[in-house]
Amino acid sequence: MKIAIDFGHGTGEDRGAEGYLNEEKAIREYGELVIDGLKLLGHTVINVTPATANLSLGQSLAYRVNAANNYKTDLFISLHVNAFRKDKARGCEVEYISDAGKGYADKICTEISKLGFVNRGSQKRTNLYVLKYTSMIAILVEPFFCDNREDCNLYSPKKLANAIIKGITGVDVYTEEENVTRNEKVEEGKRSNVLAIDHSIPNSPGVHAFPGGFGYFQIIPNSGRIDIHLDRYNYLTIQDDEKEGNRVIITTRTKGSKSLF
Ligand SMILES: [Zn+2]
Repeated sequence: MKIAIDFGHGTGEDRGAEGYLNEEKAIREYGELVIDGLKLLGHTVINVTPATANLSLGQSLAYRVNAANNYKTDLFISLHVNAFRKDKARGCEVEYISDAGKGYADKICTEISKLGFVNRGSQKRTNLYVLKYTSMIAILVEPFFCDNREDCNLYSPKKLANAIIKGITGVDVYTEEENVTRNEKVEEGKRSNVLAIDHSIPNSPGVHAFPGGFGYFQIIPNSGRIDIHLDRYNYLTIQDDEKEGNRVIITTRTKGSKSLF
């Protein structure tokens, strides 16, 4: 199958939500694993996320849709993380517009809810740009709420990616034992490094620019986590939290993420 994957935000006016976790960062974490896993299963994956840093919202949405339509993919999957009001909503939902889309949406919701997330179910949406104007089966995945503490505690990029892939293909690509070896098979050079260099500093709570206006750090509330950013997509995560444990992760724009511990 030829599959378009869209990392839902990340350019100019098109920015993700901010909660305990940052939507754009979470999408990149689990989205890269979705792409890698689908490729391991032999699918052709096209990352339709815009490579330009300062698009308007309209340009950003049109880019994604046009790219998928031009490549004539069989499926379009837009990846997001939901947000509402702090700790007021939780769980997974998948938006669709066609009956065929509902088939995928139902299966993905079922798989994500097996990880412990509340199943909010498939939602028909006729007014979402990326669903309306794509010419193939299209869905938009909202796996959890980044402004809900319990959801953020349940979030594991690899388990989530596995659930989404299983919903699409019926196959467990990241089983516990095979995690490491399978991931190593994905050559770094093949990663979808389409994101443009972006030195903008987000106007989000917990973000503090370094003196000189280059780079920033971000305190993720109630998570024992600080991210030190060179720019939007190159950063070091240091975390020590009773619930989430002690982790150090390096994330790069072109080579994906690597957990050191
Ligand atoms: Zn979103």
